[in-house]
Amino acid sequence: MGVPEERYSRITNKNQREICLLRGFPCAWGKCSFCDYIDDNGRDEAAMVSLNRQVLKRVTGEFGVLEVINSGSCFELPKETLKDVEQIVREKNIEKLFFEAHWMYRKHLAPMRRQMPVPIVFKIGVETFDNEFRQKVLNKHAGFTAPQEVAEYFDSPCLMVGVKGQTREMIARDIDCLKRYFKLGTVNVYNNNTTPIRRDEELVKWFMEEYRWLFDDPDVEVLYEITDFGVG
Ligand code: SF4
Repeated sequence: MGVPEERYSRITNKNQREICLLRGFPCAWGKCSFCDYIDDNGRDEAAMVSLNRQVLKRVTGEFGVLEVINSGSCFELPKETLKDVEQIVREKNIEKLFFEAHWMYRKHLAPMRRQMPVPIVFKIGVETFDNEFRQKVLNKHAGFTAPQEVAEYFDSPCLMVGVKGQTREMIARDIDCLKRYFKLGTVNVYNNNTTPIRRDEELVKWFMEEYRWLFDDPDVEVLYEITDFGVG
């Protein structure tokens, strides 16, 4: 990574928007057992600010919607980058922003909603509403017990599907919670990476058949390939 071309993308099917993959400080948690994408974090603030500025320059505002992602939470982006995002929102007449944050930042969401001049859709990596699997196997450090608690703060959960140890029942309940308590959501079909967490091919096959209808649901994005968003 590092080339702005790979950091800017346009989503033209569901929830049309522009996406910028920006660089932030290391994830303050950094210990989820399945996560190996924190390599994109940095510590050189000036370099990150200038890279992020280059990426943000590509935003045209054509959809009026902008999503900003980084390998971590939006609160780990340099302050100056957040100011630049705010400026782009004003300049390009963006009407809605998508941000992502870990559960530990839940109390920071309201101030951020006040700081930005437009509504924010906050995504959260829930992975699963099964508390034991999320906390013990995935080591997510997100200690809520009910989906309603998440919905008090966040707008759009990201679920992970197809991990060894997960069951069909867990996935069915997760999708049900997503649809019941949230307006929007993302489902990531798990791909093997450098961590010991493995994909369960049987389970993925079952999911792709059983939940084919989700692909037509305008409020849920199913990502089958890690690069489905066109960035990264
Ligand atoms: S919170 Fe996100 S970036 Fe941080 S370790 Fe977990 S998955 Fe990785």
